[in-house]
Amino acid sequence: MEDIIKSMINGNNRYQWEILQENQKIGIDHIIPKYPLLILTCMDPRIDVHRIFQLELGDAFVLRNAGNQYTEDALRSILIAVHENNVKYIVVLGHLDCGMKKVRLDKLKYKLNSQTLKQIGQYSTNYQFALQRFFKTFVDEITNIHNQVDRLKMTIGIPSEIKVIGMLYDPSTGWIFPENEFKKYSSYVSFMHNYQKLLQQKRMTHIDFLETIESEIVGTEPLELGDINEKSETVEILDEIAEENEDFNLKAETVTEVEYRDLQQILKKNAEVIEKSMNIVSKIQIPKIFIPKIRVHIPKVNLYKKED
Ligand SMILES: [Zn+2]
Repeated sequence: MEDIIKSMINGNNRYQWEILQENQKIGIDHIIPKYPLLILTCMDPRIDVHRIFQLELGDAFVLRNAGNQYTEDALRSILIAVHENNVKYIVVLGHLDCGMKKVRLDKLKYKLNSQTLKQIGQYSTNYQFALQRFFKTFVDEITNIHNQVDRLKMTIGIPSEIKVIGMLYDPSTGWIFPENEFKKYSSYVSFMHNYQKLLQQKRMTHIDFLETIESEIVGTEPLELGDINEKSETVEILDEIAEENEDFNLKAETVTEVEYRDLQQILKKNAEVIEKSMNIVSKIQIPKIFIPKIRVHIPKVNLYKKED
């Protein structure tokens, strides 16, 4: 246990180093998130809420508990988010393979002390029901999302113009299924029955999506087989950088220490990018593969001190 705490503190020390290195600004000026969005999700450690939606720190409110449940405490935070922080969208993000499905109450109750059991309702007429109501276990992830969405929609304190949307996450593939994609499946079983087909559809539409961001991720021109043997753009850039580097070394004494460090970093980064792309080029066998267009920015740093 001690080791975990130690590695957390060490992690923070590294984080501080990162801040120093990258001259990062950690503080986000606003408390209200950038998007009027609140995500209620499970505490499952495989869900990296920000990463799976490519959100940034400060973009949304995130509430987590076991099983992405509508609880009194979740409602407390939701009401504050809606009425005090202008949240307009609530996403209930459930996931496949949820641990809450596997909790066995008949075994769990023996692990709890008498005081806790009493608090849960040990002496109530329907003890089993009291246990279930307290822990909010469920047997079906899909039904559970539908239920939580319905409960939020029915909550009088949440104005009707607030959009409540269910989403399903698959931790094994990273895919998100928005409500319209799984709504027609009333249960986990019927969803899983169609899962491979749904995944296939996802992959097909993903190809269309990739085309829309093609310029971001790949070059715009397909590589011809002959290109590999010719002196490529990459190699030219590499030469250019080598030249710059030489020039830089010659005049290094006129560069300040900070500039020197920055330049070294930039040159190192450039070299890494090029090395990576060279590896990709060398692995290509199929002529129709798209090759990333490498954009290497040679730093426009004033290497020489101007003479007045
Ligand atoms: Zn879960």
